[in-house]
Amino acid sequence: MTPIRFPNHAPITAFDRAGAELEVGGVPLVRLAARVGRTPFYACSREAISARVGDLRKALPAAVRLHYAMKANPMPAVVAHLVGLTDGIDVASAREMHVALDVGADSRHMSFAGPGKTAGEISQAIAAGVAINLESEGQYEAALEAAAALGIAPRLAIRINPAFELKSSGMQMGGGPKPFGIDEDRVPALMARMRADGIVPVGLHIYSGSQNLNPEAIIEAQRNSVQLGIRFAAQLSDGFEWLNIGGGFGVPYFPGEAPLDVTRIGEALAPLCDEAAQHGTGPLVLELGRHLVAEAGVYVTRVIDRKVSRDRTYLVVDGGLHHNLAASGNFGQVLRKNYPVAVGNRLDAETTEVQTVVGPLCTPLDLLADRMELARAEVGDLVVVFMAGAYGPSASPTRFLSHPEPGEVLV
Ligand SMILES: *Cc1c(COP(=O)(O)O)cnc(C)c1O
Repeated sequence: MTPIRFPNHAPITAFDRAGAELEVGGVPLVRLAARVGRTPFYACSREAISARVGDLRKALPAAVRLHYAMKANPMPAVVAHLVGLTDGIDVASAREMHVALDVGADSRHMSFAGPGKTAGEISQAIAAGVAINLESEGQYEAALEAAAALGIAPRLAIRINPAFELKSSGMQMGGGPKPFGIDEDRVPALMARMRADGIVPVGLHIYSGSQNLNPEAIIEAQRNSVQLGIRFAAQLSDGFEWLNIGGGFGVPYFPGEAPLDVTRIGEALAPLCDEAAQHGTGPLVLELGRHLVAEAGVYVTRVIDRKVSRDRTYLVVDGGLHHNLAASGNFGQVLRKNYPVAVGNRLDAETTEVQTVVGPLCTPLDLLADRMELARAEVGDLVVVFMAGAYGPSASPTRFLSHPEPGEVLV
């Protein structure tokens, strides 16, 4: 494959090209757009997802179980593909759970995380045999009640809000006061209560952050997580079935960012796996979302208008922040930066013209590329936003301005 290169972004290596055109899963872009029948659309490559999982498996110790956190991309075809490639699926709502079960995920290798699970969601998970990661004492009580009503032994795991943090994360989800997980110092009391109720926790879950590109920070959090797991496993006669040490593996979205060194993480994880196994934590589980799918997906839009205003050239495309909030810079970014963007049917042209790609919404926030060097594009050309396989339509305000929803294909 010939990588697609940018002046400041990490090269895109997940796709081939056919002449001037990007290829997704072996289909040239113009033909793919015709097949989908409309723009804008999201396209994900099966081959690219498989390659990513293959590379990870090579880098990680064989004993590590790899789970897919499906909130990153809940498209049923994507979930089905990842059911076949990973060792389990982690869900964050009852609806995600139903999608995973429908496409054939094994409930024994599923877990359900998230604050604010309703009594109904908890009951559905217990009936499905899916492990519930308890985020509070209240969720434990709701689970006991639902289990009693169903007459089914629940599979309950404890999500810990650790005292440590995952440093340099895009999103902090552990350490300090958090809606996620039970504070580390309250876990012994919960475990004593579970013992008294005749319930053995199946596992521990420690998830401290997302979108991290610093291997040393991830390694440190993993080391801390394993220590926590060992400490609590010692309180059980048979230990845990598994210890979920989270994920947080990031991807390079922005200028200056480089891909995460997973080999380095795998090397540091090997001795931790052995240590954990000797101390009854059960196998280590890594739950990854964006790292498995982000680079395998593109968001494809069509140029509707080419407009010059004073010193700036705008490409007005038919897609925007209502479909891809993250690329517009409005999904948790403090300073807006461009995602990698290219004119997907002019990959052979020089990228020497500074153009600004905006969507059709009546707001200055609807910006997909701010003054980027791109191939000179005309009306009808296809502008592609890369790194779009995670947190796309499901993380965007698709009803904003009442435009149609994007197409979605797995190729
Ligand atoms: C969001 C989330 C994930 C996935 O995060 P990524 O950054 O996409 O890898 C995994 N686990 C939990 C508990 C989450 O909340």
